[in-house]
Amino acid sequence: MDLTFTEHEEAFRAEARAWLEANVPRPALPSGDTREGFARHLEWERMLFDARWAVVSWPEVYGGREASLMEWLIFEEEYYRAGAPQRVTQNGIFLLAPTLFEFGTAEQQDRILPRMASGEEAWCQGWSEPNAGSDLAGITSRAVRDEAGGGWRLTGQKTWTTRGAFCDRLFGLFRTDPEADRHRGLTYFLVDLGAEGVTVRPVERLDGDEGFAEVFLEDAFVPDRDVLGGVNEGWRVAMATTGSERGLTLRSPGRFMATAARLIDLYRRHADATDPAVRDAVIRGWMDAEAYRWQTFWTVTRLMEGGRTGPESSLVKLFWSELDVRIHATALELLGPRAELVDGDDAAWMKGWQFALSGPIYAGTNEIQRNVVAERVLGLPRR
Ligand SMILES: Cc1cc2nc3c(=O)[nH]c(=O)nc-3n(C[C@H](O)[C@H](O)[C@H](O)COP(=O)(O)OP(=O)(O)OC[C@H]3O[C@@H](n4cnc5c(N)ncnc54)[C@H](O)[C@@H]3O)c2cc1C
Repeated sequence: MDLTFTEHEEAFRAEARAWLEANVPRPALPSGDTREGFARHLEWERMLFDARWAVVSWPEVYGGREASLMEWLIFEEEYYRAGAPQRVTQNGIFLLAPTLFEFGTAEQQDRILPRMASGEEAWCQGWSEPNAGSDLAGITSRAVRDEAGGGWRLTGQKTWTTRGAFCDRLFGLFRTDPEADRHRGLTYFLVDLGAEGVTVRPVERLDGDEGFAEVFLEDAFVPDRDVLGGVNEGWRVAMATTGSERGLTLRSPGRFMATAARLIDLYRRHADATDPAVRDAVIRGWMDAEAYRWQTFWTVTRLMEGGRTGPESSLVKLFWSELDVRIHATALELLGPRAELVDGDDAAWMKGWQFALSGPIYAGTNEIQRNVVAERVLGLPRR
């Protein structure tokens, strides 16, 4: 692994930095988990797309720059360094798209990817159900064949659908063969949330944002062309999406490097922060973000040489989710009672901490990741 950036990569970084510095909206946009904020974020995503920064690693025909994975990481570092808005299209671009590139037909890729890249069609993830979260194979929402219509009729309920209230489409798992083994009878569907029989009900979070939705389906029609990866093949396809979610694309190191840099700035501005334990925590936050960066370069080097990510993506998810909680908790300690102020430069720490607390839950809880590491990375016996 060569740790020197090439001239091309340095030029790419400089171009990204210059564009972001000139275009990142100031002041920051309202939360993307509110209706108004979501719409404002989509305008920003459109600007990114028009300047060909929305999907840098994708083929040019879909609006990308054919950037290497290393360049994508560089772009992410610059994106977060510039304090650019959270990507409200992330579930489509970072989770569904890698799965579409691997399992989608050419027709699906041509039809779906350009609209996803430009933000014209926003996607949400419909996996969890009231009785199927960690136990994803326990999904009971079902799809029944509609031979005459050339498709499927979907019935059931999804929950915790991030930004579901604002999105256009949902990718989700549905049971197509109730007789088959739990992991086998599932199919991966691409569902239009505007279709007849689909009801989306926003779920208000404690902070007042409508960050979640419940999605109810009653005989909702999905055509055959919106089955991804084959009937009853859903589990295999979904595991590719979880690999992206836990491993590389959902949470790149740039996000945590930027948070660690903000923490150091906060520390410097609080001259009363003489407690050596707090100082150690600040330094640890920075070192851990750097460690995650180098670990990711190693992973990307392997991928660029033709390797694949496997169950070790669970280790990665454990690391970034716990790191995020630690950095935010340290910031709150530095701020003391001021952490609860809702205005001013430092107000974002409290909201960031509240969201960081959900990191060990979403993308598969950390208890489940530890099970995966125990069984599939370390080869320990199953209990
Ligand atoms: C911020 C956020 C965003 C989310 N966005 C989405 C989304 O967009 N789409 C979507 O489909 N879902 C989403 N989810 C839901 C998320 O995937 C689930 O909350 C998660 O998978 C856990 O499922 P559960 O809530 O049903 O908890 P449960 O599965 O009921 O788990 C409860 C507790 O038991 C533990 N546990 C369960 N089984 C085991 C086991 N075998 N071994 C050890 N411990 C175990 C869990 O770790 C947890 O602590 C989101 C969640 C959050 C917090």
